[in-house]
Amino acid sequence: MKVLKLSAQGLPQSWISLEQAVLHYAADEVRWEVGHDIAVFHGGHNAITGRQSIITVSSIIGTKGVPAINPFDLKPGLTNAKLFARDRNVCAYCGDLFAEADLTREHIIPFAQNGIDTWMNVVTACRPCNHRKSHRTPEQANMPLLYTPYVPSLWEDFILRNRRILADQMEFLLAHVPKSSRLAA
Ligand SMILES: [Zn+2]
Repeated sequence: MKVLKLSAQGLPQSWISLEQAVLHYAADEVRWEVGHDIAVFHGGHNAITGRQSIITVSSIIGTKGVPAINPFDLKPGLTNAKLFARDRNVCAYCGDLFAEADLTREHIIPFAQNGIDTWMNVVTACRPCNHRKSHRTPEQANMPLLYTPYVPSLWEDFILRNRRILADQMEFLLAHVPKSSRLAA
């Protein structure tokens, strides 16, 4: 279970562990909470009052920190796990649904023809389709793409990065994702 950490401006900053979230609470850096309470931690006893400190962690927290870099300037990193999630585990050539282990990162314009490893040049493909297409473009192989690639937005990237998103976190992130996104379907 991860906590969605937002910047002071409300932009997603990172997925952090419960323990990391507790540190933000303990340092009094949590400015607001948007989600539901997901964990309670009991700390030490106050020397004067004798009362035990309790930290309740919310699923979405806003911290006072302002990130040094504008997250919108960052291009989401390309990984197979995120690519398959973007394409919902559906092969771009045969349209069938596969388990992650049976999927590959397929370069639309192949490396052999100077294709590059970017979000816009990759789709999810099953092994047989990837093998059949080989070092050809979809046109050359007569294998048209069933969907188009795209670069995930900052918000989509946060959805793609975490496989165990809580319902309120998903709702929060999806509110910023265009209806046209495959993730919004
Ligand atoms: Zn296929």
